Amino acid sequence: MNRVQVGENVRRILAELPRGVRLEAACKTRSPSEVQQAVDAGVEILGENYVREAAGKFHLIKGSFRRHFIGHLQRNKVKKALGLFDLIESLDSISLAEEISKRSASLSITAECLIEVNSAREKNKSGIYPEETLDFARKVSGFGNILVRGLMTMGPLTEDPEELRPYFRQTRELFEKLKQMRIRGCRMEILSMGMSSSYRTAVSEGANLVRVGTAIFGPREN
Ligand SMILES: *Cc1c(COP(=O)(O)O)cnc(C)c1O
Repeated sequence: MNRVQVGENVRRILAELPRGVRLEAACKTRSPSEVQQAVDAGVEILGENYVREAAGKFHLIKGSFRRHFIGHLQRNKVKKALGLFDLIESLDSISLAEEISKRSASLSITAECLIEVNSAREKNKSGIYPEETLDFARKVSGFGNILVRGLMTMGPLTEDPEELRPYFRQTRELFEKLKQMRIRGCRMEILSMGMSSSYRTAVSEGANLVRVGTAIFGPREN
């Protein structure tokens, strides 16, 4: 996509999002210059799925932006990820949380994370099942060097955003429940739901962070 289009897409989406809902550009496979165009047009959060790809890209982008990890994080990449990202949106197992906490402690930092909820309970997907999320939140919030700041969900792969609505709604309900529980080390501030074809539905179900790739950058080539 050319420069004009990326900028126009960003401005159109930003204008459409209600106050309080933030736009994250999902940057996997996009070149530094495409990502730069998005930042120049007003994107303040960049999401990457791969540590190595982010390491090769972020330092080339000028301007101020927050860096979110949105892929499946392998334990052996945790140390590197902590140096690259401001927030890990995809905390999806106790063993990953243990590794994040241990590495964060040795760096004297607190890692900010969202719990990834496998809202459709898909066997082939990572994330915590809805019925296990409250327990999981309690457990990982007790780890010294992790601050849970909210929830993230993907939902099943579908073209029809209406099919995602029940999963968004259920994740929102978990978010509200956790907020009421007032667990120490667990703040419910960020609800990350919705992608290019579903962000409107997600926002109507309470998302305050949407992760958008294709609608900003055009179709992915691979
Ligand atoms: C790629 C990706 C997105 C954005 O997907 P689009 O359909 O291109 O908008 C959002 N979230 C995650 C976790 C992704 O990997």
